[in-house]
Amino acid sequence: MRNEREKLEPKKSGATQSKISPTGEKSHGVKYIGAHVSASGGVQNAVLNAVEIGANGFALFTKNQRQWRAKPLEPKKVEKFKELMETHNFSPDAVLPHDSYLINLGHPDPEKRKKSLESFIDEVNRVAQLGLVYLNFHPGSHLREISERECIQLIGESLNRTLEATDGVTLVLETTAGQGSNLGYRFEQLAEIIDLVEDKSRIGVCIDTAHIFAAGYDIRSREGYEKTMAEFDNTIGLKYLKGMHLNDSKAKLGSRVDRHHSLGKGEIGLEPFKWIIQDPRTDGIPLILETIEPEIWKDEIALLRKFWEERVQK
Ligand SMILES: [Zn+2]
Ligand SMILES: [Zn+2]
Repeated sequence: MRNEREKLEPKKSGATQSKISPTGEKSHGVKYIGAHVSASGGVQNAVLNAVEIGANGFALFTKNQRQWRAKPLEPKKVEKFKELMETHNFSPDAVLPHDSYLINLGHPDPEKRKKSLESFIDEVNRVAQLGLVYLNFHPGSHLREISERECIQLIGESLNRTLEATDGVTLVLETTAGQGSNLGYRFEQLAEIIDLVEDKSRIGVCIDTAHIFAAGYDIRSREGYEKTMAEFDNTIGLKYLKGMHLNDSKAKLGSRVDRHHSLGKGEIGLEPFKWIIQDPRTDGIPLILETIEPEIWKDEIALLRKFWEERVQK
């Protein structure tokens, strides 16, 4: 676990968490690797499911992701969640909760947007209740009823209202594949949304590798990977990088189709995930598998760990 002070201080840059140890030896920082695990039976089970697969970070839904209504979190389960987080040494910033798929903060219909906003604020409060610090969400969809620009404006407004109504949680925009009318398939769109947010200390971005690949960012070559990361830095800024979803893609480059695959079995291939793991720019942020075979998550995590150890040994 990282110390309290460090957690409270905003990260200066997502570039590297490496620091000099008291002995003067350079540490390579910390790598949080996990998967989006089930919270079925209660949020506390997500921690146990993460332990089960050898993860030191994880993602979860804090409510049923396909329903609007959810009972408040039971205090007993919240306590158990926090207790297990401590016992198993999970740092709050190694956990990347995901919001419901129903929420559309840029919905063209004011009534439906209001419903989304209320639900989103409820999700932020649930995350805070659990002692966590991030909420990962998809920017929103214009549903071909309004322009992309108008939709981005609405998303910005929704985010400002959420930040005013809540405390302590950073809202983490996810890059999308751009399927249908989903926004967030260009780094420029995420930068525009961040521009509209008043409290920029509580906004971040999560790169989903399958999504950016389907959106046209080719990370299959080392050169392409470096170019993509540089483009992210120039357009959005690495200090906003708060998490990554590590997924291979069944869908082809630029197809704008969102289909995940297991690492190394899709169009991206295995090597780019090695570069990501060995990249100091991904130190200290949750790196989450949303790959399609939960039964091999344990192996996928072990493989990523091996990549990480190779870097440490360098
Ligand atoms: Zn997502
Ligand atoms: Zn994702």
